[in-house]
Amino acid sequence: MENFLSEELKEILKREYSKGNIILNLGDITKVEVDAIVNAANETLLGGGGVDGAIHAAAGSELLEECKTLGGCRTGEAKITKGYNLPAKNVIHTVGPIYNTDKNVEKLLSDCYTNSLKLIVENNLNSIAFPGISTGVYGYPKEDAARIAIESVLSFLKNHKGDIKVIFVSFSERDFDIYKKIFEESMK
Ligand code: ADP
Repeated sequence: MENFLSEELKEILKREYSKGNIILNLGDITKVEVDAIVNAANETLLGGGGVDGAIHAAAGSELLEECKTLGGCRTGEAKITKGYNLPAKNVIHTVGPIYNTDKNVEKLLSDCYTNSLKLIVENNLNSIAFPGISTGVYGYPKEDAARIAIESVLSFLKNHKGDIKVIFVSFSERDFDIYKKIFEESMK
């Protein structure tokens, strides 16, 4: 069967995987059209490098203006703004734990996912895209972080009646493969 697929289709299939309400995607989160993309921000909410910098650059300066009114955000918590020039309608800013510095990193990372999903429910939204929170400069090991991300989201969705679509966006093939492996394991 594989031999009958065009090269282009094979590439697409490699980069997207879905089951139920969960989609694993390889790409740039600033391009994803959903009700809210999640920003792995820092406590100031005033922008930074990595995915934070990319989101602010794509959203435009109005995003920073709104962020200035929020008074920062504690690690594990989440705050919502509009998406401005992004294809996503909103941005949920959450602050992941710094792996080698913070205590209770597992709980704090899990809280980022749960508190982001709570904002989706509170604002009557239906779709959300997450990057690998804390897995860049904050140094959280990718496999452990992906496991916490997937378990936290699945457990939230299990206890929630509505229909929420969740996209995990990986920025590299390696990260995508990690998510896929852990997601498939969690389905067994
Ligand atoms: P943190 O400070 O929480 O570690 P980073 O932005 O440094 O945040 O990295 C978080 C994750 O986001 C990393 O896995 C990184 O590869 C990924 N990332 C960076 N830019 C993008 C992007 N444009 N879209 C999706 N993921 C991205």
